[in-house]
Amino acid sequence: MTGRSGRLVIVGLDGMPYRLIKDLAENDVMPHTRALMGSGVFGQMASSIPEISSVAWTSIITGTNPGYHGIFGFTDIPLGTYRLSFPNFNNVRVPPFWKREGIGKSVIINVPFTYPATSLDGVLIAGFVALDLRKATYPPSLLPKLNEIGYQIDVDSDKGHKSLDLFLRDLDRTLAKRIEVYRYLWAEEEWQNFVLVFTGTDRLAHFLWDAYEDKAHKYHSAFLDHLHRIDDVVGEIVGKMNQSDLLIMLSDHGFGRSEVDVYVNRFLEEKGLLRFSKHPPQSMADIDHGTRAFALDPARLYVNMEGKYPRGSVSPEEREEVLDELTRAFESLEFGGRKAVKRIYRKEEIYDGPCLDQAPDLVVLPNAGVNFRANPKGGQVFDRSAFVGKHTQEDAFLLLSASGQCILPKNLCVSDVVGVIDSISS
Ligand SMILES: [Zn+2]
Repeated sequence: MTGRSGRLVIVGLDGMPYRLIKDLAENDVMPHTRALMGSGVFGQMASSIPEISSVAWTSIITGTNPGYHGIFGFTDIPLGTYRLSFPNFNNVRVPPFWKREGIGKSVIINVPFTYPATSLDGVLIAGFVALDLRKATYPPSLLPKLNEIGYQIDVDSDKGHKSLDLFLRDLDRTLAKRIEVYRYLWAEEEWQNFVLVFTGTDRLAHFLWDAYEDKAHKYHSAFLDHLHRIDDVVGEIVGKMNQSDLLIMLSDHGFGRSEVDVYVNRFLEEKGLLRFSKHPPQSMADIDHGTRAFALDPARLYVNMEGKYPRGSVSPEEREEVLDELTRAFESLEFGGRKAVKRIYRKEEIYDGPCLDQAPDLVVLPNAGVNFRANPKGGQVFDRSAFVGKHTQEDAFLLLSASGQCILPKNLCVSDVVGVIDSISS
């Protein structure tokens, strides 16, 4: 990355599936993206495991897997407790690429899980989860300008639960402000690396995936229009770039239809593997003696080991047996006559590095249509929510404007992105 003479521009589309961007490019909704596909390198990319934004984006910007960067989800349980903690950017153990020596000045806008903003040579406005714009902004001198613009980090998802019209209006406004801020910083700053992430794409897909699939849906054209507007930004950026600059478009995970929510802790309870001292449990702190395993979102399974957790009840000799029992239980889980589980990974299969101790023992990947959730307050194993779309693991995408100089690795995954950029010398 430091050996390149041109500038680096990354446009991220949170939750944009390979299949969807290909479809919209081919069908003229995203013509600028189609032009890039024609002259550059475009491929499918696997997300992180689990396929959630905090883990995937941290893997993208550090070029490492969670065993190194230490982020396994939006939540965690510190050793020796059942207290849910919410890791943030300060807990990431590997520096992002923009902290590398000699990389030059960077403008980083809306990368998820970069809150609170920390110092860098350049400018950073954190993406979600970011509650306070002041702490999301570096340097603080940029804050008055963001307030003047009326910059908004994320759409208000509560609106989506109330009214889809309200949600779409908020989505439009958030996008318009994001574009205003990108234009301002593009022109005002002397930068070498520019990263701009759109997260409305993920929100849109959660609430309106069915509107994409169904051409007769009331909001079908609204769905396409949002992505068309993002494509216009891509066209604008291409028009402002120099010959030697490199443009990358990518997503952190894919999307598909959600047919059912499966409450993993409720399922473990039904299987006799988890006990709560209260019903309904208020939090993970209500885990009782006799618990063999528990889960954190979306389906990260932890064996309740003696010595590791306050009411741990599994001895080291019993661990293998519990892992087998969990595997059998999830393999047998069915919804509507179909297997709910695509694959179950042991942590050693998917992670390596110094943070392996903090990793979940198993991570369960769902089949199409199934959305795993670990909220202990979920009253039944199978339920439905307002979300009609859910993340998928295998179909993120990567698109590079550089042609002829780059061959994407086989089984490309989000933690390879930094390496792919490094491999391109201009
Ligand atoms: Zn999402």
